[in-house]
Amino acid sequence: MKLLSVASEIHPLIKTGGLADVVGALPAALAGEGIQTRTLIPGYPSVMGRIGKSKKLHRYEALFGQPATLIGAKVGDLDLIVLDCPTCFAREGGPYDDMTGTGWSDNWRRFAAISRAGADIAAGLLKGWTPNVVHAHDWQAAMTLAYMRFGAAHAVPKVITIHNLAFQGWFDATIFDALGLPAEAWSMDGVEYYGGAGFLKAGLVSADAITTVSPSYAGEIRTPANGMGLQGLLTGRADRLHGILNGIDMDDWNPASDPLLAKTFSRRSLSGRGANRRSVERRFELDTDDSPLFIVISRLTLQKGMDMLADTVDHLVALGGKLAVLGSGDSALEGAFLAAAERHSGRVGVRIGYDEALSHMMQGGGDAILIPSRFEPCGLTQLYGLRYGCVPVVARVGGLADTVIDANQAALGAGVATGVQFAPPDAAGLRQAIDRTVTLHADRPLWTAMQRAGMAADFSWGKSAARYAALYRSLLP
Ligand code: ADP
Repeated sequence: MKLLSVASEIHPLIKTGGLADVVGALPAALAGEGIQTRTLIPGYPSVMGRIGKSKKLHRYEALFGQPATLIGAKVGDLDLIVLDCPTCFAREGGPYDDMTGTGWSDNWRRFAAISRAGADIAAGLLKGWTPNVVHAHDWQAAMTLAYMRFGAAHAVPKVITIHNLAFQGWFDATIFDALGLPAEAWSMDGVEYYGGAGFLKAGLVSADAITTVSPSYAGEIRTPANGMGLQGLLTGRADRLHGILNGIDMDDWNPASDPLLAKTFSRRSLSGRGANRRSVERRFELDTDDSPLFIVISRLTLQKGMDMLADTVDHLVALGGKLAVLGSGDSALEGAFLAAAERHSGRVGVRIGYDEALSHMMQGGGDAILIPSRFEPCGLTQLYGLRYGCVPVVARVGGLADTVIDANQAALGAGVATGVQFAPPDAAGLRQAIDRTVTLHADRPLWTAMQRAGMAADFSWGKSAARYAALYRSLLP
């Protein structure tokens, strides 16, 4: 089977979050299911700079009025089709935002362009390679399915994955004419959404199957509390909605061979964690002692509950804990953590920014990773934490609820506990979870048993890839 995956990020070329990890890891996992994946991505500078030997596949004289080229390239085992459209993608800044964090004003055109190209490929644009199934990720790629449905590729099975319903790609109605869709696409059953053009919504109504990245999130998004306005639509399409848990790349994230660690370690021998811990303490200018070392690797946003954590830092320190925060996001939250580091010299350290290497070291040296999200489609950092013996302390929502086994008496007794959960996701709950964690950490044999139980859990892509493969096959004519 040939699969076209369409996405706006892919690890290791361009990443702002878990979407990139998933889009980058799924092709290798699907290969084991006999599926050949090609991934269509935008030609950002970081992508164009890395693709090396490449092949011109198609030239658009004018794609939304801009010259553009589809380029075939291999990076590692990834088989890429890159949309090289300099006026859309050759610019400094992030994939969605400029240097100041403001969304690019032409985002609708940039992501309609990649979607238009995806639909053209589905319709047979490339000689010798036409996909049997198209899989679009998030709002940036969602219009692929609308272009297919209202165009020549309407019969090709269409799958969309929601990685985060909070980002929907909503634009002013005035762009509709420029999208180049037939007039009938402007309807409740098409692109129109609350009077504007809804890219994600258009993908959801056009898809033959909708997936989310954890079973719990698939249920939560059908409720007013978490449906972000789309709960009615998603409830109406519940028979096509599937929750398939994300896996992790077990090679990139392997504590026994990770070159980004000061010292490697394994489930059997955890002693190497000490060297990583010292490295984290040095990098974050924290005291060198054995008190519980909490870490955070996150976008600093309200979704991630970082405001609750900022309000709980003093409590964490009063209990004798230490905190290392790596992240960036809302400037007020960045400021709150920097202020906490000033208040608690040696106990709280903060690095504002994105640092893949440091994130590995933190997972390898921290005692517990804090993830107090208000909602979490899947979450990957708890999975990396489990694999590295960094015990997750999480809000009981979405994928966090599905992957962490709370250290209640029954689970501890049975030796299956892997972390600490709290509910509802509020500051009081987080405080109590930190209290429980500090108490658990003081009982070293019990703590080590929890670390080992987490490290034994299998979050490789195998099972999930099999579910995606079964889903694709069920859609074939
Ligand atoms: P989301 O995609 O909602 O941001 P996930 O937990 O699904 O959250 O994925 C986040 C990914 O980004 C993980 O791979 C995590 O390690 C990484 N990450 C987040 N913030 C940083 C950071 N500041 N530095 C390095 N890696 C980060």
